Amino acid sequence: MERTSPITELKNVGEQRAKKLHRMGIETIGDLLEHYPRDYKDRSRLTKIADLSETDENTFLARVKGEGQTGRRGRLTFTRLQVFDDTDEITLLWYNQPYMKTALKSGEVYLFTGRMQKKYNRREIVSPEYESIKDNFAGGRIVPVYPSVDGISQKMLRSYLEEALKQVSGTLTEELPLWIRKKYHLAEKNFAQTNIHFPRTEEAFYDARRRLVFEEFFLLQTALFSLREELLGRGSGIVMEHPEAMDEFQKSLPFSMTNAQKKVLSEIAADMTSGKIMSRLVQGDVGSGKTAVAMAAAYWAIQNGYQAVLMAPTEVLAEQHGKSFTELFAPLGIEVALLTGSMKAKEKREALAKIADGTAQMIVGTHAVIQKGVEYHKIGLVITDEQHRFGVRQRSMLAEKGENPHVLVMTATPIPRTLALILYGDLDISIIDELPPGRQQIDTIGVNTSYRQRIYAFLGKEAAAGRQAYVICPMIEENEKMEVENVLDYTEKLKGALPECKIACVHGKMKAAEKQEIMDAFAAGNTDILVSTTVIEVGINVPNATVMLIENSERFGLAQLHQLRGRVGRGSEKSYCILVSDAKTKIAVERMQTMTKTTDGFVISEMDLKLRGPGEFFGTRQHGLPELKIANLYRDMAILKEAQQAAGDLLRKDPQLEQEENAHLKSRLSAWFEGKSLDL
Ligand code: ADP
Ligand code: MG
Repeated sequence: MERTSPITELKNVGEQRAKKLHRMGIETIGDLLEHYPRDYKDRSRLTKIADLSETDENTFLARVKGEGQTGRRGRLTFTRLQVFDDTDEITLLWYNQPYMKTALKSGEVYLFTGRMQKKYNRREIVSPEYESIKDNFAGGRIVPVYPSVDGISQKMLRSYLEEALKQVSGTLTEELPLWIRKKYHLAEKNFAQTNIHFPRTEEAFYDARRRLVFEEFFLLQTALFSLREELLGRGSGIVMEHPEAMDEFQKSLPFSMTNAQKKVLSEIAADMTSGKIMSRLVQGDVGSGKTAVAMAAAYWAIQNGYQAVLMAPTEVLAEQHGKSFTELFAPLGIEVALLTGSMKAKEKREALAKIADGTAQMIVGTHAVIQKGVEYHKIGLVITDEQHRFGVRQRSMLAEKGENPHVLVMTATPIPRTLALILYGDLDISIIDELPPGRQQIDTIGVNTSYRQRIYAFLGKEAAAGRQAYVICPMIEENEKMEVENVLDYTEKLKGALPECKIACVHGKMKAAEKQEIMDAFAAGNTDILVSTTVIEVGINVPNATVMLIENSERFGLAQLHQLRGRVGRGSEKSYCILVSDAKTKIAVERMQTMTKTTDGFVISEMDLKLRGPGEFFGTRQHGLPELKIANLYRDMAILKEAQQAAGDLLRKDPQLEQEENAHLKSRLSAWFEGKSLDL
């Protein structure tokens, strides 16, 4: 039997049970071995019947006294059995399991586990687990508790794993090179695989877990690093000339770039002159000036006679970017074309024609820009945001047409470097860790709904002074089940409270054109207050807006709150973020405290990660990463660091994994990613 053998090769796994296991994604012996316990019960410590506790589970050895007795309590049938040891005896009780009458044999010894109850001075245990004891019984053990599989009991799962481990024991091939195991003090594969399921001791468990967590991180990181090498190696990248064009461009800006922006530009310059294809992620907090960096790179590509493409996550944002690119590029003689899904057929046809014949040099749009039917004249640079990672698929689509553009990915979610390496291990990473000078600190306050009148008065005052405000509500329409503010009713309420203000409302169910009109009016200063769902979350830039009011703020994650807050504080006026919530849960309170204490995106995202847990935080599916089966991105950060170091060391020694000792690792890696469409 091998890792790759189907589970049906196991004793007692027939068609029916195999189907149930398949539903949990368990198809092979290897999958079963990676169905890791979610908990353990320590049955290595045995109790005597006289000392059984009511509060904890007890494990004890006892001999069966006589036959089981069956009876009835109302609609239930029950089976009662007496067992004893050298200190006392106790009653075991099962409901509606008549077969228990004969399941245990009189006079035999079993190992029982269960919680004791006292009823009218009678001590009993309902539905204890039991195991028959062989002559060579050497004491209880630590037993695994598995994530449940519908229709398959814990006992059965345990027996499958026991059997599978027996079959493969000693034959599992090591994927970690010996020198790495030595350097990082990692347990051997067979030991780890056995002891993660049935740990001999607590120490054995920790050793086993550490090794398997390391292995999981190591495989993933090695795969990502290799993928990057492959992307870089695949064909040669366009060599751009005259990087000083980016300096020229900077002269046309109304500000000078921060040192952090300049550093990123020099990294981009190195990439795009190297002869390799750039795959670079630019990380920077909201407002750190990522767009300006993207513009400079686009300008440079265009000066080299290539087209540059910017792909935005929403129509509203695409339009906004379209405008700001046109403002800066048109005076420089560069033609900007907009391409979105909601454009009229005629407009679209015109845009497509300009893109195809090269008249359009800068193309800004939603993901419409990479859809079928869009032919580029000569594409040199693609800029996207992290939600639209320019995937392997899109790359090969363009490559088929003989294009191999450089790729720049932008993200406003600053995350610790270790994690960035896992999430974006296929990309080189640049960080803008400095905000442009003169930014106003944003005052953040958390209040409950009793402050609402005072807040409205404040909004009125700001509007009277010519400034603007955003109000965010979580829902569009009233929802009876949830008592949260909804945009439509709220807007009416606000209009009643502030009759002298011009108040508009925008939400995700509106047509793109309608949304755009409202956003434009707000940007032009014709509206004082904009009530909205989170459609304005990403990237909107209205420097005159000074208040961000967020209702039911407990319903937003930290990263989202931080993004929303980043919409204000963009001009020269003092700005405020007001979080309104009546929630008293620990997580809501901690979020509120974090928001009022800091505006540092790195601190906030780390806190977010801690509060939400890595699964939710990353939505690893969205990132196309295989699911982690045992490792925890947050808790196991220290091991992650070591695994990254090791992966780097390994690939420096053996970049293509051609050495004999890495053969198994290589085949594990390709099996891992096969069919998983790692769409990076
Ligand atoms: P991000 O995309 O990182 O959130 P933007 O590129 O949209 O940030 O920049 C936010 C605002 O700051 C814009 O109005 C932009 O013009 C301005 N800005 C960018 N870089 C600088 C700089 N170095 N100095 C002053 N203002 C800047
Ligand atoms: Mg931006």
